[in-house]
Amino acid sequence: MRIARYTTGQDPTYGIVTEDENGAMVIAEVQGDPLYQPIAYTGVQVPLDDARLLAPVIPRSKVVGIGKNYADHVAEMGGGQPPSEPLVFLKPNTSVVGPGDPIVLPRQSANVHYEGELAVVIGRICKDVPRERVPEVVFGYTCANDVTARDLQSSDAQWSRAKGFDTFCPLGPWIETELDHRDLALSTRVDGVTVQDSRTSLLIHDVVTLVSYVSSVFTLLPGDVILTGTPAGVGRIVAGQRVEVEIEGIGTLSNPVVSRD
Ligand code: MG
Repeated sequence: MRIARYTTGQDPTYGIVTEDENGAMVIAEVQGDPLYQPIAYTGVQVPLDDARLLAPVIPRSKVVGIGKNYADHVAEMGGGQPPSEPLVFLKPNTSVVGPGDPIVLPRQSANVHYEGELAVVIGRICKDVPRERVPEVVFGYTCANDVTARDLQSSDAQWSRAKGFDTFCPLGPWIETELDHRDLALSTRVDGVTVQDSRTSLLIHDVVTLVSYVSSVFTLLPGDVILTGTPAGVGRIVAGQRVEVEIEGIGTLSNPVVSRD
């Protein structure tokens, strides 16, 4: 099931992306937020093309990032051994934007990079989740761009600023709730040119490991998001470009890049 958050000019609402009886893509509106209540259709349908998709989730408390989780990305970032345990950092929920929203390049950085990633959306409050119970706490999956000011990541002793600017966490286009996460094609394109091309089977620490590990540190709340890391091929984006992150079984997250000034 593909759960979208969207607007047609009114207040944001939630719906299920599906095909109507004629095969056209529509959003079937549901009552409330499916994170917190069972799916109940209102009977209203809108053509997908007539809706403006929004970030499918606004994390109530946090976006948890994972660094250096594909070996080829570890190598391109200067080599060394991949971390033996997941490398955890945080992005503020104010960094989240939705499909089509601009990534705004901050004045403080001259080298902002895209990072295409699989994002895990948590569905229930949880802590110390054992591996075998991880499926119970995962609501679904979406595409993410872990936008990073690479120069500030180097100059600051830690990553909060480099990873935390407003608009540095595009999410979308929707949450897919039925997905086998273990071997999905993941690619990133800049102005249509493929710059990252990998598979989630190449994650050093897989989704189950990450959810269990992160929940041993933080209590996770419904709507919290875990970014699973990016493969090789990261690079700079400049104003005027468009970045797309596509994940098999989910869809494509597309965002333009603009400058602050
Ligand atoms: Mg990343």
